[in-house]
Amino acid sequence: MAGLKVILKHAVLRPVLETAWRLGLIDLTGHRRLAGRVAVLMYHRLVPDQGPAADDPDRFNPMTDTLTISRFSAQMRWLARRATVIGLEDLAEIMLNGRTPPRNAVLITFDDGWQDTFLRAAPIINDLGLRAAVFVSVDAVEERRPLLVDELTWILQHHHLILDRGDTPEEIRRLGQGLDPDRPETFHRAVTGATWWLKNLDPGYQRTILGRLRTAVPEGRDYYDRLYLTWDQLGQLAALGWDVGSHGLSHPNLSVLGEADLDRELGRSREIVGDRLGRPVDAFCYPYGDLGARVAAAVARAGYGLAFSTRPGLTGPDDDPLALPRISTGGPKLASFAAKVYGLRR
Ligand SMILES: [Zn+2]
Repeated sequence: MAGLKVILKHAVLRPVLETAWRLGLIDLTGHRRLAGRVAVLMYHRLVPDQGPAADDPDRFNPMTDTLTISRFSAQMRWLARRATVIGLEDLAEIMLNGRTPPRNAVLITFDDGWQDTFLRAAPIINDLGLRAAVFVSVDAVEERRPLLVDELTWILQHHHLILDRGDTPEEIRRLGQGLDPDRPETFHRAVTGATWWLKNLDPGYQRTILGRLRTAVPEGRDYYDRLYLTWDQLGQLAALGWDVGSHGLSHPNLSVLGEADLDRELGRSREIVGDRLGRPVDAFCYPYGDLGARVAAAVARAGYGLAFSTRPGLTGPDDDPLALPRISTGGPKLASFAAKVYGLRR
């Protein structure tokens, strides 16, 4: 069976994976590998099976290039049969108090605080009697202020207004070459590139550039307003047993922030989520999965007990509770999803 693990890790042999799945070998070997650990699953957005509508700005958003509702539904139905879905307090017991995880323990997490989570994922999860945790970007919920990726999606849709301007940075001009509205993937690539470039800049310079681009295009408020959860929706989820944690205030790359801004992002977001939902918040999720010793120390200082990264892997008692790995759940087929949940492949 060790051979199976090696083959699955290299994932090139998809037919082997499919055959192993049909023969039940994935379940047979997987649960032993997961024993004593937890698979923390990381989700972002869910899109309709046919993709965003032709006139929907979301077509150009790289975050919609992920998981369809029916794939997600199949994943959840499989989890309902095979896994024990736990909550954040259970994971805290396991990580901080030495409790043994239940068989096939899984924690479902959603990053950022998307409307999709409430409208598309929650009905499926709730119908199956499962639960999940949502990590919210407070400014998006509280002030309807866009995440960088969403604002750049909006701005680059108006590329004809910005690309020829003298004050548009060379990097954005370069990324904006070859944008073709008939090929949304050209936008997905450009927006992703621009997001990763801007997030690493000094925050003051980043604000200057965004401010310039923002004033050159129409107001994107209508688009942003329907992307994010509201406190009322989060309250409804909490009442159904969901956990809500913090993803910071403004979804920054924490490692480029100075000490005062870093403490504010971590501390203030924890306070606001706790106030709005009337319950303590003990878990944090790193925007962009970005962490280092300085950021992790600030997370501890802000009083969080658990913090989630995007480093792939199963979570075990030996992991640092403030740098927990997660499993990215893309993957077109259920066989591939199951192999990931079991830690048989990354
Ligand atoms: Zn995020």
